[in-house]
Amino acid sequence: MCGIVGYAGRRKAAPLIVDGLRRLEYRGYDSFGVATVGPHVEVYKRCGRIPASLPESRAMKGSLGIGHTRWATHGAPSDTNAHPHTDCTGRIAVVHNGIIENYASLRKRLGRKGHTFRSETDTEVIAHLIEEEYDGDLLGAVEGAVKSLEGSYAILAVAEGDRRIVAARCASPLVLGLGDGETLAASDLTPLLEYTERVIFAEDGDIIAITPQGAEIRNNGEAVERPVELVNWCADDVKKGGFEHFMLKEIYEQPRVFYETARTADPAPLLDLLRETPALTIVACGTSYHAGLIGMYLLEEFAEIPVRVELASEFRYAVPPVRNPVLAITQSGETADTLWALRAAKARNCPTVALTNVMGSTVTRLADAAIFTRAGPEVGVAATKSFIAQLAVFLALADRLGQGRLAASLGNAHLAIGDLLREDVGEAVALLRGARSIFYVGRGPFYPVALEGALKMKEISYIHAEGYAAGELKHGPFALLTPETPVVALCFPGPAYRVMISNIKEMKARGAPVLGIGVPGDRELGEVVDLFLPVPGDDPVVQVLTSSVLVQLLAYHTAKSLETDIDRPRNLAKSVTVE
Ligand code: GLU
Repeated sequence: MCGIVGYAGRRKAAPLIVDGLRRLEYRGYDSFGVATVGPHVEVYKRCGRIPASLPESRAMKGSLGIGHTRWATHGAPSDTNAHPHTDCTGRIAVVHNGIIENYASLRKRLGRKGHTFRSETDTEVIAHLIEEEYDGDLLGAVEGAVKSLEGSYAILAVAEGDRRIVAARCASPLVLGLGDGETLAASDLTPLLEYTERVIFAEDGDIIAITPQGAEIRNNGEAVERPVELVNWCADDVKKGGFEHFMLKEIYEQPRVFYETARTADPAPLLDLLRETPALTIVACGTSYHAGLIGMYLLEEFAEIPVRVELASEFRYAVPPVRNPVLAITQSGETADTLWALRAAKARNCPTVALTNVMGSTVTRLADAAIFTRAGPEVGVAATKSFIAQLAVFLALADRLGQGRLAASLGNAHLAIGDLLREDVGEAVALLRGARSIFYVGRGPFYPVALEGALKMKEISYIHAEGYAAGELKHGPFALLTPETPVVALCFPGPAYRVMISNIKEMKARGAPVLGIGVPGDRELGEVVDLFLPVPGDDPVVQVLTSSVLVQLLAYHTAKSLETDIDRPRNLAKSVTVE
């Protein structure tokens, strides 16, 4: 979940690396550090966030260096446990993303050989293993050292007197950026966009020598060539562009993201599979899981294809007896639970497809085929535009399988989302911000919207919130309803309308204030609820989209009024690369 950045070029390395680390902040971390190679190896590392100005980095010499943002797995966050870690001599420095599972036995072995350990991390063994192997050739030393490692890693290493960064990858993401007389390495694309659009995605087992002129890759002792790919994201995508938070910027990008994804995403791989075997299993986590649930409603209603949606974290340990196609949804393409579920599906010989936002990500290499959303880089930890982009793919898919029945929704949704973004949610925020707990309820495809609304509220405002199928509330949670427990009710014309109105009356009878979300001009709903928020959209599919955006806005503005750290909520990280 942390990030690594390496730079070999002609500019001063440390400030550039620190800037790159800032771009990776959204992945979540607890400490950071940099090492550069000038005449000597210099290391600067600290617990906590990267300060807005870091004069120490400007004082570091050298145009070759490595940096790290840590998300501690072994050893508490502290200055000493922060990366880079060095060997006994201080002439070799290493940053590492991942977990070394056999570190305890390696540490004992190295300790017996006289190595002195300064930190409690699993990572430090790597620096000492390289020291053991080092005879002036860093590449050979890293190649030798990783043979002893079990676990997951993306490693960058530097050594005094060596003009290369040596990288190694096993089950942790690593991308190389090829610039003009400068080469970068990072955990994801965001730090590279400023410098180049030409990238190489490293593969498991790769050992890479990085110089200003480029990268030489070895795998299994042999030199290998990896394709150079062109990235279609740009540096401005990872800047706030005048918005107070990335999350708000990303919410406002949704009309464009929907429009572009609906028109350009190519659902062909899944389309062909579903025409052959009309049944689908979806595996995903968090917001992607909610997108999967809405996808299920769309495919079942418009294409009559039965769909089951599984939490990826559960699927791996109780694999259902399916043989049909499996779709894995993950924004980052690196979500560990989803990757494991996908491997479990492959072991059952299910055809697999990935739905992801990130080209070159691990899921695209594991699945038989990939469909890409066109959301661009998503920096806010709370997913917004990637969710809408995933829904755009489901709409396009259901439309193709359902003989064009969704053409109107596909054509209009971006306009309706644009209208929704003009909505004033001030009164609603006043109703929600003081709550100890909030229920979100809906029926049919609005039930996953309720789940997503509650998830957004929890993540960024820290108010406890639960999404419920509206009919389930009286089977237990009614006991919790009080005047301090507002309910957000999604109530739209359709088969569930009447029963929703009754449900809302039942909730009001228990004293809960109700915020109703429905279509403009719905006087009946307006009269039964305490506060009514209309959303645009001529049909239920578009209403699902606009109400999804509305619940994002409710969470955002509530969190803002409570002054939480919206883009980096406590305890969370953007891409969850541990199980
Ligand atoms: N396992 C290492 C540590 O705890 C690296 C964690 C990370 O990926 O940030 O220091």
